[in-house]
Amino acid sequence: MVHDTIAAISTAVGEGGIAIIRVSGPQAISGIDPIFKSKISLKDADTHTVHYGHIIDPSSGEKVEEVLVTLMRGPRSFTAEDVVEINAHGGVIAVKKVLDVVLQQDGIRTAEPGEFTKRAFLNGRIDLMQAEAVIDLIRSKSDRAFSVARKQAEGALSKRIKALRQTVIELLAHIEVNIDYPEHDVEEMTSAYIREQCQSAIAEIDKLLKTANEGKILREGIMTAIVGRPNVGKSSLMNMLTQENKAIVTDIPGTTRDVIEQFVTLNGIPLRLLDTAGIRETSDVVERIGVERSKDALQDADLILFVLNYNEPLGEEDRQLLEQLKDRSVIVIINKMDLPARLDLEEVKRFVSKDSIVKMSVLQEQGLDALESTISEMFFEGQLEANDLTYVSNVRHISLLKRARQSLTDAIEATHAGIPIDVIQIDARSAWESLGEILGDEAGDSLIDQIFSQFCLGK
Ligand code: GDP
Ligand code: ZN
Repeated sequence: MVHDTIAAISTAVGEGGIAIIRVSGPQAISGIDPIFKSKISLKDADTHTVHYGHIIDPSSGEKVEEVLVTLMRGPRSFTAEDVVEINAHGGVIAVKKVLDVVLQQDGIRTAEPGEFTKRAFLNGRIDLMQAEAVIDLIRSKSDRAFSVARKQAEGALSKRIKALRQTVIELLAHIEVNIDYPEHDVEEMTSAYIREQCQSAIAEIDKLLKTANEGKILREGIMTAIVGRPNVGKSSLMNMLTQENKAIVTDIPGTTRDVIEQFVTLNGIPLRLLDTAGIRETSDVVERIGVERSKDALQDADLILFVLNYNEPLGEEDRQLLEQLKDRSVIVIINKMDLPARLDLEEVKRFVSKDSIVKMSVLQEQGLDALESTISEMFFEGQLEANDLTYVSNVRHISLLKRARQSLTDAIEATHAGIPIDVIQIDARSAWESLGEILGDEAGDSLIDQIFSQFCLGK
C-alpha cells in the first residue's frame, strides 16, 4: 500500500508540557532529515533511536526549536510505516512553528483526525477494537476510565474476543467434518458437542456483557439522582457538589422545575448528578413535567441521594419513597442538621442501614467528607470486581456480542429441534462474523470511516 506522508501535533494524554509532532509515511525520514540539524543524519540513524538537535527553517537557516527526535523505521512502529517523532517543549507557538516547517517539506501533509490510528489499523498493527479504545482514551473523563481505556488499548478485551472466536471456529470445523463425511455417523455426538461449545461461548459472552454496565459507569459517570421533597436542600447540595450556581435555589417549594444535570468527580469517581423536582403529586402543569422527569431519572439512576430535612418530621410521601427505594443503591442524606431536630432518625433507620445515612448541613458546609466516603465505599465494594479491568464499554461491541449470543442460542435450539447440521452451521458462522466485526476483520469501509472520523487530530 503506497501512502503519502502525514504529520500532526500529537501531544500525549496527560503530558501537558511536551508536545510531540508525529510524522508517518515513506517521506518521514527523507523529509525531516534536511530540517533537522544534529550530529547524525537521520538517514544513517538506526531504528528506535533518539537524537538531540535543532529544527531549522530551511529558507533562512535559522534555528526554530531545540528538539529530541525519535526515529522508528517501519514496520516496527505504531503505523507500521517509517515514523519520526519530534519532541518539543518550547510552548504552543514554538511547536506550531516546527509543524509549519515540517509541512513545508515536499510530500508531507497534515494528518486527518484519527489518520495515524487508521493507518495502524489498515496496516494490521492493531485491530479495530484497539483502535476504538484509543477513541475512548481520548474521551475518557476520569483517571479510572483512563486506565480502563488503556487496558483495552493494550488488547485485553481483544484477547478475550479472539479466544471466543477460536471456540466458534473449532465448532465450525467440527460441523464441516460432519457435513463432508456424513458416513461417519457422528450426528448425535456432534449435536452434544455443538451444545457444549455454544454454551461455553455464551457463558463467556455473558461475563463480558456483565462488565458492560460497569464500563458505562466509568465512561459516562454514575447516574446519580438527587431526590426528596421540595425545600429539603437538593439544589443547594447540587451546588455544593458542583460549586457552581446552575441550579436555582429559592425558598419557594417546587422551584426546581426541571431536571438539571452536572458532571462531577468525587474521590476520582465520576458522577452524573441530576437535581430533580420534588417527587410528589402536583396540579401545576409545569411542575408536573418536572415531576415526570424526576420519576424517569429515578428509574434510570445508578445511585440515589435521597435528601430529608432534619427540621421536619417524616411525611407519608417520604415513607412511600423510602419503601420504594429499598432495593436500590440509595444514600439517605439528613440535611439541615444545624436546625432543631424534628425528624425521628430511628424511623429512618428502619428503612435503610445506618451505613447509608449521612448527616449534613449544606448551609454550613458540613458532612461532605462523609458523603464522599460513603459513595466511594458503595462504589468500590459493591460494583467493581477488583483487578478485572476488562470492560466492554462500547455500544457497538455490546450489540455485536448480543448478536453473537443470539446466533449461538439459535444453534443450540436447532440441535434440540433436530434441524440438519448444515443449517446449524449458518448460525455458527454468523456468531463468528459478529465477533469478527468487533475485531474489525469483517468491517466494511463505511464502518471504518465512521469510526475513524471520531478521532482527534494527531492520534
Ligand atoms: P430544594 O427545593 O430541595 O432544591 O431545596 P433548596 O436547595 O432550594 O433549598 C431550600 C432552602 O433551604 C434554601 O433557602 C436553602 O438555603 C435552605 N437550606 C439548604 N440547606 C440547608 C441547611 O443545611 N441548613 C439550613 N438551615 N438551610 C438549608
Ligand atoms: Zn431544588
